[in-house]
Amino acid sequence: MALTSEQAHVVERVARLTRERIAPRAAAYDQAGQNPVESWRDLWREGYLAAAIPPAWGGLGLDMPTYVGVIRTIAQGCANTAMTLHMHSTVMRFIDALGTDAQKRRYFDEVVRSGRLFGSWGSEPAVSLSRTFLMETAIRRADGDGWIIDGVKHFCTMALGASYYLVWCALDGEADMGKALLLALVPAEAPGIATDGKWNTLGMRATYSPSVTFTRARVGGDATLGRPGSAIQVGVVESFGLGYAAIYVGVAEAALAFAVDYARTRVVKPDNVAVAQDPTVQRHIGELDVELHAARLVLEAGAARWEGADMLERGLLANRAKYLATEAGLHVTSKVIQVVGGRGAYKDYLAERAFRDVRTATLMPPTIDRMLEAIGKSALGLQEGRRAAGRTGRARGGGPWRRTVARGERPREARRRGSAAGSRARAGARPACPRTGSVPGP
Ligand SMILES: Cc1cc2nc3c(=O)[nH]c(=O)nc-3n(C[C@H](O)[C@H](O)[C@H](O)COP(=O)(O)OP(=O)(O)OC[C@H]3O[C@@H](n4cnc5c(N)ncnc54)[C@H](O)[C@@H]3O)c2cc1C
Repeated sequence: MALTSEQAHVVERVARLTRERIAPRAAAYDQAGQNPVESWRDLWREGYLAAAIPPAWGGLGLDMPTYVGVIRTIAQGCANTAMTLHMHSTVMRFIDALGTDAQKRRYFDEVVRSGRLFGSWGSEPAVSLSRTFLMETAIRRADGDGWIIDGVKHFCTMALGASYYLVWCALDGEADMGKALLLALVPAEAPGIATDGKWNTLGMRATYSPSVTFTRARVGGDATLGRPGSAIQVGVVESFGLGYAAIYVGVAEAALAFAVDYARTRVVKPDNVAVAQDPTVQRHIGELDVELHAARLVLEAGAARWEGADMLERGLLANRAKYLATEAGLHVTSKVIQVVGGRGAYKDYLAERAFRDVRTATLMPPTIDRMLEAIGKSALGLQEGRRAAGRTGRARGGGPWRRTVARGERPREARRRGSAAGSRARAGARPACPRTGSVPGP
């Protein structure tokens, strides 16, 4: 699983960049809750904004082991820079998998030449993205050329920071979500987009992810990617989870390194010995080292297997890696504060930020329970679980795929209705249908 010297060089280059330029800014971005714009600029100059763009289009075209190494390394210095780069890179994968040559030329060129960023917005007020890809944001043909989008998105990472947003929509008038899901690339300056800009959170503060409303937002006729329903059939959505795992492992590694350094250099009275001499501390550090090492191995094994894996297996690889990275990350970042002691709670110390950033790991889809459920179903050879873990294909007869926005209905009306009849219908239909939430999402 060792990287080749060429792959290792790509990771070493970003390690230096992270050490010298990205990490020193991380605390300020976190405190301000603002996108790491200067760090994005640095990544662009070094080619990393094009990490997932194929070389034929001017990108680095990193394979998954190298990509995961890059994201993990950046996360050691700044979790927010790693998370936003990963969101952006996953959009690049969608464009590569679903876009026409004209779309690739246009969007990849904007990244390579101008350093443009792309966000991915799927979350909505009334839907659990952790369970389904049900979307209430509606997209419909405009008079003449183009599309009209109406809806509300929550957790819009890089709102105001990115140049384009990959908005997860449902084709208006299509009742089956398996055929309705449509991704639209919306330029930041498109008319009809508004945000109150509110974003003040526990961790991952510099992802800057406020809510955004689309009111008859108009985009061009070439703004959609692929045919309706195709977005979850190309083996890309699964890569969200693998990247999240890389981020949590990276942040936890930095926290553990901080604790080790602290334990070795802080001398305590009356014996005038380093904290590292305490057998309890040694045991704590040993335990965390093993857990983190295991999480990293599973992450790297998943990345190594990625290219040859079908969607079903990719879902499983991502779930395993994200589950272990989340568990290890939560434990490491919590216990590191204990090892450091009272000063572990200082805002000035990396341990405090790492703890807050990794705490959000359980919120990113799929949740711990959903991952375990999917892994368990796969191990048990249950067909529905296997389908849910990988293919996310068409559920028959309603259930999670059933769209709640009726033909011609505006999203707000649908949400009002959704809390009563709509959610009753969904809840009633779900047990008979495969769950889809085990697939990592935006
Ligand atoms: C820092 C950060 C950045 C993010 N960035 C993005 C981004 O860029 N793009 C994006 O799209 N999203 C983003 N998200 C959102 C993330 O994807 C969501 O947290 C995720 O979708 C989970 O949704 P939720 O928070 O609504 O929780 P849910 O999954 O809805 O869960 C909330 C609660 O409801 C319960 N629940 C769910 N469904 C049901 C049901 N049917 N019946 C009963 N109970 C139920 C769950 O068990 C849970 O207790 C981000 C989140 C964070 C924290």
